[in-house]
Amino acid sequence: MSTCIRCSWQEVGKLVINPDGQVFPCCYLANKTYKADKHGALFDNVESQSEKGFGNWYWKEKSDKIMRDYVKHKDELNVKKVPMEDILNHPWYTEMLPESWENEETRNDICVTYCETPVEYDDRESGSS
Ligand code: SF4
Repeated sequence: MSTCIRCSWQEVGKLVINPDGQVFPCCYLANKTYKADKHGALFDNVESQSEKGFGNWYWKEKSDKIMRDYVKHKDELNVKKVPMEDILNHPWYTEMLPESWENEETRNDICVTYCETPVEYDDRESGSS
């Protein structure tokens, strides 16, 4: 069955601003990043880190590339440092995240869990949503 991502937060125009100013597309990814940071799992070599007891919070090679990209750009995605308009027009929001949804291998596990849907239920193209 072919699937796609329908970003439930984007569709209703919501996002999350953490107390430190970081802007996340939803609370699910904000929580995952917080937990990974707390457990020291924000490493490039995530597969080996997973063996050190980080449980489900380690970041996987392909599906978490989008979140490692977020960390690389985090200062440009912080509303205490950059105007919100610039954040929303940042390539992480306009290109990297939506492009990560196009391929099942690069979709973040969280996006798959909360927002993946069979293509036959995706009515955006027909304009009937
Ligand atoms: S989990 Fe992914 S697709 Fe779903 S609301 Fe968050 S960013 Fe959007």
